[in-house]
Amino acid sequence: SVPLFLHLVIYRSTSSTTLPSFLLVGPSGAGKTALLTLFERGQHVETRTSQVPISVEVSLPVSTNAASLKYRSVNDPSNQVHKKFLLADTPGHGKLRHYAFDGVIKPQNLKGIIFMVDAADISMGNSGSGNEALRQAAEYLHDILLLLQKRSTSSKTSKAPKELPVLIAANKLDLFTALPAPLVRTALESEISNVRSSKTKGLLDSGIGMNDLDIGEEKEWLGDGGDGKFEFSQMDEVNVAVSVAGGNVLGADGQDDHSNTSPAPQR
Ligand code: GDP
Repeated sequence: SVPLFLHLVIYRSTSSTTLPSFLLVGPSGAGKTALLTLFERGQHVETRTSQVPISVEVSLPVSTNAASLKYRSVNDPSNQVHKKFLLADTPGHGKLRHYAFDGVIKPQNLKGIIFMVDAADISMGNSGSGNEALRQAAEYLHDILLLLQKRSTSSKTSKAPKELPVLIAANKLDLFTALPAPLVRTALESEISNVRSSKTKGLLDSGIGMNDLDIGEEKEWLGDGGDGKFEFSQMDEVNVAVSVAGGNVLGADGQDDHSNTSPAPQR
């Protein structure tokens, strides 16, 4: 269910005086606009393909408490204030991705990144010719994670950057063809391993020497230095906490049944 996505992200956020913001990214068609609209209006509407990033101020459902507020009284008036946050939707289209990268590079009180994928569009890519949707999602995610890793390795100070949670939201789990979240995780991890090695191979083929590539310094190499499998846990070292959760913005389970989740957000 949708609110589950946000429970997890908010859980790790800390309270602050300015509005915390979350960046919503992912391939086009993943359901980003639908999620944003859901939180903005508290209802489901058909969406158009987003061409420019939009930012909306949304509030957590009244029944949902950020983990950062757990020591506050339920009657604390600041609860209402702190529950508000900004959610920025970015276009998933390849040519428009610089908007998303801008959001990563110039964060304004950025508390977390939600990377949304269409779990029905991703099937295990390790058979046959592979799966184009999975490959594209993995490339996009690889580039974002690499940027986040550089945030840490290029830091002038020796201080580690603040922890930044990245939530991979496996959307459209209402569709029976959708991969469950744990499989979305493994599929992305193994496809990112492929992206990582083909990028390195591409650089080597283009005449860059092994020494220039500086694999040891991890300039362009995502995750640990080994050439084994990429795992999201390798991002822990640069204070990027990746988690995967499943849910659906639309569809049977998400639509009216909020019995085990939260009501639509209040403005
Ligand atoms: P975006 O390109 O990431 O902004 O994706 P959209 O929000 O435009 O959604 C793409 C399509 O997927 C739209 O037709 C949505 O109605 C549909 N969609 C979004 N979320 C879900 C979901 O949870 N389940 C199903 N079945 N369809 C969804």
